[in-house]
Amino acid sequence: MFGKRAKATLITAAAIIAVAIAAFQISKSRTFQFFGEIIPRVNTQQKVVALTFDDGPTPGATEEVLSILAEEGVKATFFVIGADLEQNLEQGRRIVAAGHELGNHTYSHKRMVLKTPSFIEAEIERTDQLIRQAGYQGTIHFRPPFGKKLFLLPRYLAKNARKTITWDVEPESYPEIDADSNRIVEHVLASTRPGSIILLHVMYESRVESRKSVRRIISGLKREGYSFKTISEMLAATDTLTRR
Ligand SMILES: [Zn+2]
Repeated sequence: MFGKRAKATLITAAAIIAVAIAAFQISKSRTFQFFGEIIPRVNTQQKVVALTFDDGPTPGATEEVLSILAEEGVKATFFVIGADLEQNLEQGRRIVAAGHELGNHTYSHKRMVLKTPSFIEAEIERTDQLIRQAGYQGTIHFRPPFGKKLFLLPRYLAKNARKTITWDVEPESYPEIDADSNRIVEHVLASTRPGSIILLHVMYESRVESRKSVRRIISGLKREGYSFKTISEMLAATDTLTRR
């Protein structure tokens, strides 16, 4: 049998593990955080949807996606990485000039957990400055890299009255879907509801299947009666409703 002390040690260890597991689950939750507002979708009966593209901007892919959006007459939201934007400010300017929204996806795209407050602040503020340099004048919404956040990031955002934008449709999170644009389109059409926020990655070479899916996602959702909004437009349209 265990002694009293060994028992206490075991209970403490179990408690620490339980807290660590809970913290890990919370850190990757799309729908919960400890401070401020987190928005994985908006609660509405209207057939509106937001198309969001993470990472970049990169040359080539940006122009390809912008021309599809222009042909379809659709506005989207690009959550850009500060370091990429600094390299490719021209692509950032093109996104803004075409009337799309730029969001902040941190400067270096690291997981914003177990980081110091000054690191988090610099990651966000530096990227905001670059987004302004690209000419974007609207509200800059924030999306954490890998959707990861725990205490300090949400606290910083809440203190600065900024919302955390996540998503509720993520076709690329399933390897069997991610590798085939037909399946990406199918998954998005089957999963989108009024007020959904769709996440796609289109900026890097490896994301050719995602890029191939964009036009068919748009035409498929249009056929179902959806109209496309930027994150700011969607929040403005539903601000009086309870979200989630
Ligand atoms: Zn990302």
